[in-house]
Amino acid sequence: MSGSVTPEAAAAAAQLGAIPEGLSVPPGAGPSLQPTIFELSRPGRGGGKVAHPPADALDRIPASALRAAPPGLPELDEPTVARHYVNLSRLNYSIDTGFYPLGSCTMKYNPKVDEWAARLRGFASLHPFAPDETAQGTLQLLWELEEALAAISGMAAVTLQPAAGAQGELTGILMVRAYHRARGDADRTEVLVPDTAHGTNPATASMAGFTTVSIPSAPDGGVDLEAFRAALGPRTAAIMITNPSTYGLFERRVVELLEMTHAAGALAYMDGANLNAIMGHFRPGDAGFDVMHFNVHKTFSTPHGGGGPGAGPVGVGVSLTPFLPSPRILREPDGTFRLERPGERPASIGRMRSFVGNVGVLVRAYAYILAHGGPGLTRVSEDAVLAANYLRRRVGESFEIPFDRTCMHEFIASAAALKRETGIRTLDVAKRLIDHGFHPPTIYFPLTIEEGMLIEPTETESVETLDAFADALAAIAREAREAPHLVTAAPTTAPVRRLDEAAAARQPNLRWRPAAGSVTPCPE
Ligand SMILES: *Cc1c(COP(=O)(O)O)cnc(C)c1O
Repeated sequence: MSGSVTPEAAAAAAQLGAIPEGLSVPPGAGPSLQPTIFELSRPGRGGGKVAHPPADALDRIPASALRAAPPGLPELDEPTVARHYVNLSRLNYSIDTGFYPLGSCTMKYNPKVDEWAARLRGFASLHPFAPDETAQGTLQLLWELEEALAAISGMAAVTLQPAAGAQGELTGILMVRAYHRARGDADRTEVLVPDTAHGTNPATASMAGFTTVSIPSAPDGGVDLEAFRAALGPRTAAIMITNPSTYGLFERRVVELLEMTHAAGALAYMDGANLNAIMGHFRPGDAGFDVMHFNVHKTFSTPHGGGGPGAGPVGVGVSLTPFLPSPRILREPDGTFRLERPGERPASIGRMRSFVGNVGVLVRAYAYILAHGGPGLTRVSEDAVLAANYLRRRVGESFEIPFDRTCMHEFIASAAALKRETGIRTLDVAKRLIDHGFHPPTIYFPLTIEEGMLIEPTETESVETLDAFADALAAIAREAREAPHLVTAAPTTAPVRRLDEAAAARQPNLRWRPAAGSVTPCPE
């Protein structure tokens, strides 16, 4: 750390709390906050490069469709518009500008060739209501993607409809409900969920009308078998297991868990969010899972941070195939493809989403899978596990590692000891990482770990990047002992300082309002 406080950083700090004595900020660090485009507007200013509509254009529009007053658009010259949006984009932290070690998100990198594939006109311009005869290429791609996901997972059949992992869970658990009802087994009202599960698991169970029973973890981080046995019974409809778990640990007792589940007449759901770690090594279908979801945006491109939609295909074993959402994509004996007709498969739980799913995301997933091939996907998982274990050892030099055994694609570190010694918490460490040039990892999740950080490097980061991240964490641990005010004041290089995150979530202020008496075109 060298240099003096920049005027922008000082101004931002003054806005949100003073920079403490003796604190220095690298020169030019961090872009600054931008005025809104309405504040930049000046009446009468404009580029005027766009041809004006014909004089009688308004006469051709029915009066009922005309607005009473002009829409109050900002007026700016073209360079100001371009700079405004480029400067805004520089406030973003992105995978194309730096490493982000968020756990429970798996893949981060988005191969550019997958973007190219998704933008091909035949896919991108296809109308959702296009008749099957004119959509053969897209239907074939989707059908082949279902086949590929079935091969990767060992499941019998796949639906691509759900819009995200959470909706995939709901789809899967609704199929479980339909299965038990079809057998006249109406007393199964409970879904067992380990306490390390993602919040969407219990939410799914309750949305589908079940009661969630939380199962504690054993000291080794896996599901506590005795607690599981005690909770399992004739009321159990399903268990939901995340494997590898959100601790980044492979569930060693998965065979026993599935045997006990099936012996009790219940079904086993696998949360496949962490599939990135096990491809080519563990197929949930082979292990006996009855249903699972894939987060294609966590395993096969379009990663989190893209801001767009994801997709949560669901794979099922033979017992649940009749209940798959409709319409399925069917291949006719002559090799053509069509969508199932309404009512063609009466046991179906029906439609979960409009059309056939988030097709653009699915095209990226298809491109990713074909680009790697089977051996390539196995290598992806092996590299992800290798990178996570390397980083686990390096981070372990400065922070505790609660489960210090071979991890899968992610691992947990904890600042609990540092907090006892210095008062510095995980939140402070995360904020200080921003000043060291890194996006923080996932923090305080899973909730069961005191001062936890869930760190996931993925297969695509170089050893130099992993070392730089571990070095930054080590430097922060040193700062916590020698100059804690640097850590508690962080971030100092970001355009804003510490924000009240609870207020931001509970009372979001999403609307800009002009200052009283301002000349902006946007009236209050
Ligand atoms: C991300 C995640 C989910 C939810 O998936 P979305 O695609 O974000 O809806 C569920 N379970 C686990 C373990 C996850 O990491």
